[in-house]
Amino acid sequence: MNETMRAAVLEGPGKIAVKDVPMPKIGESDVLIRVVNCGICGSDVHSFKTGMYVKPGQVMGHEFMGHIAMVGDKVDGIAIGDRVTGFSASICGECDACKRGQYILCAKLFTGSTGYGLPGAFAEYVKIENALLGSNVHKLPDTIDDVSAAMIEPVSVGVAAAVQANVQPGDKVVVLGVGMIGNACLQAAKAAGAAEAIAVDVSPARLEIARQSGANDVFDARTGDATEWVKQKFGIAPYHYNEGGNADVVFEAAGIPLTIQQSLEMVRPGGTICIVGLPEHAAEIDTTKIVHKMPRIVGSLGGDFAPAIDRLASGAIKVRHLMTHSFPLEEAAEAFAVQLQAGETVKVIISASPEVPAAA
Ligand SMILES: [Zn+2]
Ligand SMILES: [Zn+2]
Repeated sequence: MNETMRAAVLEGPGKIAVKDVPMPKIGESDVLIRVVNCGICGSDVHSFKTGMYVKPGQVMGHEFMGHIAMVGDKVDGIAIGDRVTGFSASICGECDACKRGQYILCAKLFTGSTGYGLPGAFAEYVKIENALLGSNVHKLPDTIDDVSAAMIEPVSVGVAAAVQANVQPGDKVVVLGVGMIGNACLQAAKAAGAAEAIAVDVSPARLEIARQSGANDVFDARTGDATEWVKQKFGIAPYHYNEGGNADVVFEAAGIPLTIQQSLEMVRPGGTICIVGLPEHAAEIDTTKIVHKMPRIVGSLGGDFAPAIDRLASGAIKVRHLMTHSFPLEEAAEAFAVQLQAGETVKVIISASPEVPAAA
């Protein structure tokens, strides 16, 4: 093994440099993965723009797949060459949230996880500490291609959101914002039995991909009032003193104040709003709609990989077509510049393999 490897390092807001960094050192409980593909996450874009989730010097990237290159002596069931994805989470195991089994709520989660605190996978190699098969390392079935496999993490976010939202067979579902996460919510909702799932965005490219992904109808919010469109599609539901939308479930995946407000208008009385978008600005909320419509409002963050792998392996969720752009690792800065143009992109993949995958 070389002493150094190439990696994309966040040097400050808007600045990424690809350079030589030390090769990760593997302990007896760790594995080293030779990265093939790693997708740029919305959270990576926030960090790139504002330093929101990480500090300068960070190698980001947590949506990846690759092949096992080294295995510590004490690791069971994982062998060199295995095709895998993974994620090291720095949950403390001791706080109240961890004791309740709600590991996603551990306050330490973002201080020492893959791509957040720990070096991530915009690099030739990434280490998974305390590797545990089925927990932080997952073998990939042959039915999941190398591009789709790099989207297992964001697919897991959509699958978990559909569970949090308690999507039921026959439900009428609205998804606000159909980037990667909104698209995953849409497909997960349909896989859970939603009768109709419709999508709103301001990007024709994203709306077209949502349609290809099973959206029953789509609306470009630049062309009119999205709330009125949802009422036309799903009908109008009266409540005390007023009337509003009739959606059983609204996924808010745009992360902007307007769509938060719209979600309260679109949801039916007693329906569910599931908030997965990561906002940069707080929204002003008309709480009358919360009191009189009594929606269930839930937030959803992260998700388990195993159910996402199942959905992709069975074809219930398909994501190969969500990769709109791909770049070699050496062009990571260009890749981020492209992902910033949200209207033109869904998933941008940075590839450390010699064969950069072609967009579908
Ligand atoms: Zn992510
Ligand atoms: Zn904890």
